[in-house]
Amino acid sequence: MTDIPKVIAIDGPAAAGKGTLAKRLAEHFQLELLDTGLLYRAVARKVLDNGIAIGDAPEAYADLAGQAARDLIPADLEVPGLRADETAQAASKVSSLPAVRGALLDFQRDFSRNPPNSAPGAVLDGRDIGTVVCPDADVKLFVTASTEIRAKRRLKELQDRGLEAIYARVLDDMKERDARDAGRDVSPLVAAEDSFQLDTSDLDADQAFAAALDFIENRNT
Ligand code: C5P
Repeated sequence: MTDIPKVIAIDGPAAAGKGTLAKRLAEHFQLELLDTGLLYRAVARKVLDNGIAIGDAPEAYADLAGQAARDLIPADLEVPGLRADETAQAASKVSSLPAVRGALLDFQRDFSRNPPNSAPGAVLDGRDIGTVVCPDADVKLFVTASTEIRAKRRLKELQDRGLEAIYARVLDDMKERDARDAGRDVSPLVAAEDSFQLDTSDLDADQAFAAALDFIENRNT
């Protein structure tokens, strides 16, 4: 039996299976879970709710986004509308602002070092957890899948929620968000050198969990 990791960092692009995997690992090891995408979504939501259109001119919302990030309280993560695709696209724009990333960094690091409910550790999922937020994490996973498969998963998720969606549009949105997340100057989406890369294109959730668990349990052998 291996030791229980204190911090598990999970990064990767949208709809690669990070969220499900993070949840399953947190339950398995009884660790607290932080979906860091929700932090950026909450900041984006505040900007949108203030009637500011998030175009490609960050000076229009940089101050407000920075302030929203500094003022973020955990209850903001329950705000309805965070899961909408409009919010995701806006999140990927506000998240390229250094002031926003900086303001959210302490919250994330603090969560990883002092997880709520006296839990023995934490699982954080996002884009820069293994590279920037928790570079000393015991376990780093980089979860990927082909763009087409991720778009199909996102399409199904939207349809399951009763929303109308077209595959071509979902695929385009996904490519646009991937390019922005991987191409930005600060904390771009990139695999940490010491991460275990898990391609879930041909794996279901159970298989992805089993592969991650196998890596974690044998990492020191
Ligand atoms: O993971 P999720 O799809 O909820 O993330 C929404 C957006 O927030 C991402 O497209 C990305 O731009 C941003 N994000 C980030 N760093 C993180 C988590 C999310 O830049 N650690």
